[in-house]
Amino acid sequence: MTTVQSSRASTSASNLNAPSDNAQSSSPKAPTGTAKRRNPDSPTGNLAKRGKGESSEAASTLQAHTRFFEDGSSTTTGSRVPSRVPIAQRAGHITAALRGRQIDAVTHGTDKAALEQGAKTTLGSWTSDSHFHPTQYTQQGILPEEMLAMMDKVGVYRSVIMPIPTDVIPCGHPDNNHIPPEDYYVPKEDMSMARHELTAEREDKIAKSAHLVVNQQVDADTADFMDMSGLTDAQRDRLDPMVTGLHLGSPLSSEALLKKLHKDPGTFTGIGEVTIHKELVERQFDGARQANLTDNVQPFKDLIATAGVVGMPVVLHCDVDSTDNQRKNGLGAPQHLDGIKKLLGSPEAKNTTMVWAHFGGIGRFVAKPDNHMENLRQILRDPEMKHVHVDISWSRVARQIVMKQNAHGVEEPDPASIDAAAKLITEFPDRFLMGSDALDPKKEETWAETGNMYKPLLDKLSPEVRHQVTIGNYERVIVGARAKVRAFEKHVLTNEFMKRNVRPSGPTPLRDGPHIEPEKLRAARDAAFAAAGVDERGEPVSNATH
Ligand SMILES: [Zn+2]
Ligand SMILES: [Zn+2]
Repeated sequence: MTTVQSSRASTSASNLNAPSDNAQSSSPKAPTGTAKRRNPDSPTGNLAKRGKGESSEAASTLQAHTRFFEDGSSTTTGSRVPSRVPIAQRAGHITAALRGRQIDAVTHGTDKAALEQGAKTTLGSWTSDSHFHPTQYTQQGILPEEMLAMMDKVGVYRSVIMPIPTDVIPCGHPDNNHIPPEDYYVPKEDMSMARHELTAEREDKIAKSAHLVVNQQVDADTADFMDMSGLTDAQRDRLDPMVTGLHLGSPLSSEALLKKLHKDPGTFTGIGEVTIHKELVERQFDGARQANLTDNVQPFKDLIATAGVVGMPVVLHCDVDSTDNQRKNGLGAPQHLDGIKKLLGSPEAKNTTMVWAHFGGIGRFVAKPDNHMENLRQILRDPEMKHVHVDISWSRVARQIVMKQNAHGVEEPDPASIDAAAKLITEFPDRFLMGSDALDPKKEETWAETGNMYKPLLDKLSPEVRHQVTIGNYERVIVGARAKVRAFEKHVLTNEFMKRNVRPSGPTPLRDGPHIEPEKLRAARDAAFAAAGVDERGEPVSNATH
């Protein structure tokens, strides 16, 4: 751990180029909602002050040092997609002024000519990251201030913070009191295995090599390390911490969520990534009652409904198929497809913004099913599924979208797959979000890997669609949720509410039995908002409507 941390020391707060800000010292825990976005120090707020006269040297430095997708690879037309892209080591820093101008171009660009120009110069440079893990399976990892420094270099405008909510406990070590060096759920010698090499026996061996136990502390940790980072408002505005430390199979997870929000108000934006079905992981998960799509799904459904009442989006990892089914039955009948459709289309989910991770449940070993894009199309065009989004995260997934194995087992670009994915995204441009799924990256190229891999796909999108996928949808789906969560915390989650409803010894208006009922919570929320004269975003409602 110490070597990891010291190697990062050079990217810590001293490099952050922070604009002056004294607001945070007076109120370090102030709720960070949309109000903060109007802060004059915010990356999007101070453009008027920027001149147009930055030197061309500075401009070229900017381009050379901030391109997320600049990797030397050619597109599908050039037919070369390197599997691991070395990005030249980058040095130097971008000035805050230039950064502000660049970010404004990608965030607020709307007219077509500007976007097309942007596509050539800046648009590919910046993305927001809807799927990022700062910590790994032993709860070590990159700090918020280190994230920001790396985001500037990689070209990530905003990012979620999704702590891994399980601890890995390796099995079979001769000394049980000794902490072995593994920090991932797949042993190192198995990590680069190709999909076809994963036999049932080998999968069994991996599954038995470790246990994963839920760590519900991770969200308090997120809040703690955010506080300790001493971020300015402008820096804080680029991060969206997410709640992940929830036992999805427990009927108490909804109450746990409310407690976390009450404990650290102003911190969290959404929930996830949380995991239902995941190759290997679901077999390593320690303890009974893991949530699934069949006989233990109700607690998770209630959590999803509760998230909808609060206004939090939910990022869900659920493999569309299982490795076992694919070995036995091929790629034509994904085992979990009907179950996930039922879950997403259930009454509990319909008022919640759902983000199905990994391009609809593709995995490291779970292959992209035949007809996957058509299966997704059916979901996305269903009027009952308007709340469903898809993140395209994970370099392993990107690889399956843009590459295929030829008859000799050699990987080569897959133009048909790229076209099919581009077509689907273009049909539903407001439903897809860029995500890296980087896990405690120690190098820029690790964070940039997914984006680099997707270059052939992103190049197929129009500037407008690409802008939505990389920036616009994050603003709407993730940033747009902040104000709702802040309003819920302020007007609903009062101390009185917590004492009366979350820890009562008898029945309350919100529940008949031991668990809060989401629809009753919704009614309580609406009553609290009405009493305060605000809408769900906390904005005053004019008296005329009462
Ligand atoms: Zn995942
Ligand atoms: Zn992930």
